[in-house]
Amino acid sequence: MTSTVEPTFVPGRTADDIARLAEEFAAHGCGVPPTQGSPSDADSRAAYAAYGQAGLIGLHWPVRFGGGGHDPMVTFAVEEQMGYHWLPMSSYLLSVKTIGNALLQYATEAMCAEFIPRIASGELIFCQGFSEPEAGTDLGSLRTTARRDGDRYIVNGRKIWTSSAEHADWVYLAVRTGSAESRHRGLSVFLVDIHTPGIVVDVHRTLGGGTIGELTLTDVAVPADQVVGEIDGGWQILMGTLDYERVTSEKVGVMLRLLDELDPLVTDRAGRQTLGRIRGDAHIAREHGRRATARLADGIDASAESSMAKLSIALLMQELAATAVELVGPRALVESGPGAVLDGKLAAFARAAVATTIAGGVSDIQRKNISRRRVGSWS
Ligand SMILES: Cc1cc2nc3c(=O)[nH]c(=O)nc-3n(C[C@H](O)[C@H](O)[C@H](O)COP(=O)(O)OP(=O)(O)OC[C@H]3O[C@@H](n4cnc5c(N)ncnc54)[C@H](O)[C@@H]3O)c2cc1C
Repeated sequence: MTSTVEPTFVPGRTADDIARLAEEFAAHGCGVPPTQGSPSDADSRAAYAAYGQAGLIGLHWPVRFGGGGHDPMVTFAVEEQMGYHWLPMSSYLLSVKTIGNALLQYATEAMCAEFIPRIASGELIFCQGFSEPEAGTDLGSLRTTARRDGDRYIVNGRKIWTSSAEHADWVYLAVRTGSAESRHRGLSVFLVDIHTPGIVVDVHRTLGGGTIGELTLTDVAVPADQVVGEIDGGWQILMGTLDYERVTSEKVGVMLRLLDELDPLVTDRAGRQTLGRIRGDAHIAREHGRRATARLADGIDASAESSMAKLSIALLMQELAATAVELVGPRALVESGPGAVLDGKLAAFARAAVATTIAGGVSDIQRKNISRRRVGSWS
């Protein structure tokens, strides 16, 4: 299908190249299954390796670490194309867009030299272990502890909502190194080999048709030099990492793809006007993401802009799902078989859109973040 997203500007990485990759994945069974409503939550180790081989990982990362040395806006546009062509992206979004970018900002040169080239080649997958049963929004209350023991730390605790845990090689782990009362002042971030003895990974199904992990950590020994940044200095790193996570141009691509596919199905004037307005709003959401990306690249505080990008996409995805179901009628929710609309993709998307209010930080927190950081101090 002809793409309506922006051209990607990268020689050899055109929209057509990405479309071909999507066709290959579909032929080899490592694409997004039709029951899964969001490529952001779909996972495939084979697909991730293929991105590395195709040179799609780290397009703007330094060449010395295996990156492409391009402008960050190139990566932003390519990620939109990957979403448009419905490529499995969970491992990519965590390992590359979120943790890879955060390591380049916060880790030492030696740590980057060890990990970034292996991420760029499609070899290493990371998952992100922040959330716990009593600590999602309120990360300052997390209870997983790391206690110093000679040249290592001993980690105990539990992590939930860990996307891509079943495919991951390493976990980017938030732990408490300070006292139980230290709140955000006593947190640290470690890189932990997920195969270290004492880590158990459980996997659960999600409403969106994907999976989500849960990690139990019992007396897990982690070398002391596997810390990102300073011990007890993790809060700033966690918040900065979330800024990268919240910019999601692939979801703009997903929405534009659905709008293109819905186009021939909605023929009445009012319906087409509504879809046209949502299309316009998707372009605005893209601009929020571009603004955040530009600030992140320049090393300027991008917290409010990342929240704007995340909030605008979450609201719009849910509006698109509800509108599409209303315009297409009850058959929009048929999941499979001859009556399914867009091979069931619309029904799956409507299920998956529910989680966009929560994943990456709840919408209420994005609103607070925007008002705290920007109201009265817009720059
Ligand atoms: C699909 C999916 C994938 C995820 N992947 C990961 C992952 O890979 N790694 C990871 O670490 N986590 C992941 N998460 C977890 C996610 O970050 C948390 O679910 C999220 O931060 C919310 O935390 P919580 O679930 O504890 O909800 P809570 O914080 O308990 O929120 C519950 C409700 O309380 C409201 N609320 C809470 N605090 C406030 C406040 N201060 N002000 C106003 N309202 C408030 C919220 O708006 C919400 O409605 C994922 C979640 C989902 C759904």
